[in-house]
Amino acid sequence: MKLPILLYHDIKEDNFDIATIESGNRPYVMRQSDFEAQMSWLYDNGYRAIGIDEIETATDKSVLLVFDDGLKSNFDIAYPILKRYGFKAVFFVTVDDIGKRDIMSWQELKELKDNGMSIGSHSMSHRVPIELSDNELKYELFESKKVLEKNLGKRIDYFSLPTGFYDKRITTVARDAAYKGLFYSEVGYTDIAHSSSLIAHSKRTTGPDIARSSSLIAHSKGTAEPAAALFQIYKKIGIKRGYDLWTFRALVEQNTGVLFLFRLNQMFRNLAKSFLGSKNYIKLKSIVLRKAL
Ligand SMILES: [Zn+2]
Repeated sequence: MKLPILLYHDIKEDNFDIATIESGNRPYVMRQSDFEAQMSWLYDNGYRAIGIDEIETATDKSVLLVFDDGLKSNFDIAYPILKRYGFKAVFFVTVDDIGKRDIMSWQELKELKDNGMSIGSHSMSHRVPIELSDNELKYELFESKKVLEKNLGKRIDYFSLPTGFYDKRITTVARDAAYKGLFYSEVGYTDIAHSSSLIAHSKRTTGPDIARSSSLIAHSKGTAEPAAALFQIYKKIGIKRGYDLWTFRALVEQNTGVLFLFRLNQMFRNLAKSFLGSKNYIKLKSIVLRKAL
């Protein structure tokens, strides 16, 4: 089973002046009516946005919605729309920003948590992971988990990698910090080990053995560990400003042609990133977008 994970950031009222947003961030600011149209399309076509704890029972009509950066519009605009459709979502928050202007407060995060939504970590400071030392990287993952758990009174199981720069150290650090899963940006779908296949497996073998699935890595410390110790990697597909309903639909329906074009685009962006380095890439992106929007 391949699950589409749709990533959102900011959502603003339709009459919002996009010129007030820094050009590099504009693709991440979606119009409210576009977001509503997407949720309505999902609902009308039988799709349901499930909670992260329901993934094992996902069907081919399930999607997972995730929001990065903890923006206040997630609470003010997205949350009421999600509630209307009975949809769930995971909100990944940057801990140092909580309560700042345009960012959700602890109170708002608690309300989300108490109403079926999940909260995850999006690091302490949102610094680009590949620019950090090992200790700084550890601090971003360990400390954010600790602070969120202390303030929300709930286990924080998931980490969403800030920025589009994948860091190969991150899986090890996330596992050491006892996260159950890591979300990173890639145009693709996430292989989900179904609960039925889990049960089938455990009947045949001494314990659940789903580590063979490519996206699952057994967190083994020499002895047999329960399924809860398995670590999952999730691919989040960024839904950006300007995607029309046709593109959205193609991404949800896992249209291979559209996926190919998106992957090609991502490949060129990744090449540019590795040539330019993170700082120059961000600078260049901002210049290009200023011309394009
Ligand atoms: Zn982010």
